[in-house]
Amino acid sequence: MGSLPMLGLYEELRKNFGYRHWWPGETEDEITIGAILTQQVSWTNVEKAIKNLKENDMLSLAAIADANLPELERLVRPTGFFRQKARRLRNFAQYVARTHGSLGIMFRKDSAGLRKELLDIDGVGPETADSIMLYAAGKRIFVIDAYTRRIMSRMYGTPDDMGYDELQEYISSRIPGSTKLYNDFHAQFVELGKNYCRTKPLCDMCPVKRHCSYYKAQMQG
Ligand code: SF4
Repeated sequence: MGSLPMLGLYEELRKNFGYRHWWPGETEDEITIGAILTQQVSWTNVEKAIKNLKENDMLSLAAIADANLPELERLVRPTGFFRQKARRLRNFAQYVARTHGSLGIMFRKDSAGLRKELLDIDGVGPETADSIMLYAAGKRIFVIDAYTRRIMSRMYGTPDDMGYDELQEYISSRIPGSTKLYNDFHAQFVELGKNYCRTKPLCDMCPVKRHCSYYKAQMQG
């Protein structure tokens, strides 16, 4: 496993990338909509869909709950799998309206109860649930995405097939801290993964290469 404590890694990343101000989104509704739309697609495409929704006064769960499905499909088309995404989004919005009335009320639940409830909604997996919990509801939970998985494997040697909850526990147990820290730490991983720790990593330019097991092994090999 890597030698740099995880908090040290965060500090190094933050020094390089600055505070990330994540998640891009102004309201609980917008963040939640983005978290559902970003499944299996790049954020650039999600931005196009968010812009479409905004321009058509549909960037709220209340509006989406009443939306006409073909119209919603048209607006979220840039996100790929748009029929499935439109259905999931409307289903989610209708669930919130029916069960709680608003996200604000739903988010009053404790973390364990809220996570269980989110995971029971059709189309909401752990990454989506945790993104909603951390970035929209302000709960302290670490989001595991493909970038996190790849960086952890390369820097700390965590197995590629480590379960979602297990990797989440591995990271959380090493970074006691605030929601704000969890929020920014995940955003730093996204920045590192997007710019350097890609599928084909750009190790020579990576700001944390001196701490990375993968890089050191490549140098020795
Ligand atoms: S040194 Fe290479 S493998 Fe390690 S974190 Fe940076 S880009 Fe990824």
